[in-house]
Amino acid sequence: MTAFTIEARDGACDARAGVLATAHGDVRTPAFVPLATKATVKGLLPAEVAALGYEMVLGNTFHLLLNPGPELIERFGGIGGFMGWDGPIVTDSGGFQVFSMGHGTVAEEIKSSQAGAGGRAGAILAIEEDGVRFRSYVDGRERFLSPEGSMATQAALGSDLALVFDECTPFNVDRDYTQRSTERTHRWLERCLGWHAEHGPEGQLVYGIVQGGVYEDLRRESTSTVAASACDGVAIGGSLGAEKAQMYEVVGYATRELGGEYERKPRHLLGIGEVDDLIRGVELGIDTFDCAMPTRLGRHGTALVPDPENRWRVDLKKARWRESEESLLEGCECPACADGLSRAYLSYLARAGELTGARLLTMHNLAFLATLMKDLRAGILDGDLENVAREWRAGGFRSER
Ligand SMILES: [Zn+2]
Repeated sequence: MTAFTIEARDGACDARAGVLATAHGDVRTPAFVPLATKATVKGLLPAEVAALGYEMVLGNTFHLLLNPGPELIERFGGIGGFMGWDGPIVTDSGGFQVFSMGHGTVAEEIKSSQAGAGGRAGAILAIEEDGVRFRSYVDGRERFLSPEGSMATQAALGSDLALVFDECTPFNVDRDYTQRSTERTHRWLERCLGWHAEHGPEGQLVYGIVQGGVYEDLRRESTSTVAASACDGVAIGGSLGAEKAQMYEVVGYATRELGGEYERKPRHLLGIGEVDDLIRGVELGIDTFDCAMPTRLGRHGTALVPDPENRWRVDLKKARWRESEESLLEGCECPACADGLSRAYLSYLARAGELTGARLLTMHNLAFLATLMKDLRAGILDGDLENVAREWRAGGFRSER
């Protein structure tokens, strides 16, 4: 089975539109993947997530390993059966969360993808060739996660797409550490693929993870090592730099290594979801993205709007919206906008900490990014990506497609 089909390529940049075929259905790309970290897209029902236009969600191996545990989830046929989502699911390997306990990184801030409230309270005890020992934030017990253990957990979680276990190299280490860490990640890649070849569930795809920090030679070498392995797809992880220009450069180091014979391997960019980053990422040839940003912002009273000057955000908790009769965003089809709810009401809900407010803004933010990705995809298919990207960057919303 060829998992990924490229339908169209843009003439001016490296963007492509495609279809990723999984055991639980197709994912049309480029696509954003909402987080279902703890087997729920916080506040939403699976049917609501699907109605917003999403075809795949991302579950978190680390958190689900600790609670409720893979054995229980497996009994329900995996995360999908457990949470009632019948579409494709990707699981991360737990590497990012485990290592986030030990390293605070600038990359995390850039990516708006902190390990989640719980991940921070645990502690990393030792990083060894065999795996990582850490203290669970759930019950304080010592736990161990290895490449094989991560793959076995993801097998039990029944995801369509598993990520290999890697060390998420932090931003604040030197080149020498980055190199040694990246080499270990490559050895772990082979161990993950070896385990999966023997025990992995049928139909589960495996993505390798590119590391190498911000160093061009290390990134390129890591990319070609991962691409040449038996993995089905390539995810780009780790520290991508201190600011956006560097992030784009580092992503470019990787995607440029993925042409030719590796072009048919789908590419995922881990933890990136800002509007301008999604547009640039698509131009650089990324197929899928995940990020905590839209759902987390929504839970905290911030909505995504076509306002590049303010990072496409509006904080509805601010006093200026207290009496605003303005709707949130004209043309948006989410429940909050389609019903014409006022910013005053949404502001009130957010300031009062009402669940309905968190739900409405989560749905709006996901609808906003779904519209962006749909537009970018249509732009690639129509040979008009340049204009679509320009409109969005200038604060447009929903081109006439
Ligand atoms: Zn909306």
